Amino acid sequence: MLEDHTAGRSPFLLTCDHYGRIIPRALGDLGLPTSEFERHIAWDVGIAGVANALSKLLDAHLIAQRYSRLVIDCNRPPGAPSSIPRLSEATAIPGNEDLTRDAAAARRGAIFEPYHRRIDEVIGRRLRDNIPTVLVALHSFTPVYGGVARPWHIGTLYHRDTRLPPLLLEYLRAEGDLVVGDNEPYAVSEDSDYTIPVHGEKRGLMNSGIEIRQDLIADPAGQQQWAERLARIFGEIETALRAQGLLPG
Ligand SMILES: [Zn+2]
Repeated sequence: MLEDHTAGRSPFLLTCDHYGRIIPRALGDLGLPTSEFERHIAWDVGIAGVANALSKLLDAHLIAQRYSRLVIDCNRPPGAPSSIPRLSEATAIPGNEDLTRDAAAARRGAIFEPYHRRIDEVIGRRLRDNIPTVLVALHSFTPVYGGVARPWHIGTLYHRDTRLPPLLLEYLRAEGDLVVGDNEPYAVSEDSDYTIPVHGEKRGLMNSGIEIRQDLIADPAGQQQWAERLARIFGEIETALRAQGLLPG
């Protein structure tokens, strides 16, 4: 796990479930060639740089998972087939075949649970201290999946919150030069997601995910550019939320 700007003054609490691609030493390489760990199946390419810079620019608390989603996916309900995937896109993961119940539980206890416990604690503390909190889950998506090219530059990712996602869509579209996905390329559900349903919806927080296309944030220059753009947009959204009385003025 990685945390930054833990005393950040921003109402935005940033999470990044697929920030890193570390594999615990005991699991070796999961039976995969090194090249697979460069790909989106192992992590959200480019998002770490965006998350770090955005956390700094907004002075926003960031909680990020440094272990690879191939070990256990921190945005999947434990027990779901995609939690410890045996297949990701078209790649079979030999190290995830025939896992015993104990082996799966060990991954959950070592990686999944401490990460979500920490997010839960931070939200709990903020609520107790009356610190306004808006959950933003940061992700990136592969430009081509299963041979199909995706047109969006950025997408919002939401389910039940009716406050933040419409504003986010409005401000992203107002940029004028972006193809913005409305719950594209993914939508949130309780079966396919964990962070937004559990930490956002069950806590009653305003929340949304963001998905940025990976070719746009492949290098540090792109990551910085997108972080600056998003910091400006989130600043505008914060002002709008205050004007609407959804954040204290
Ligand atoms: Zn992701």
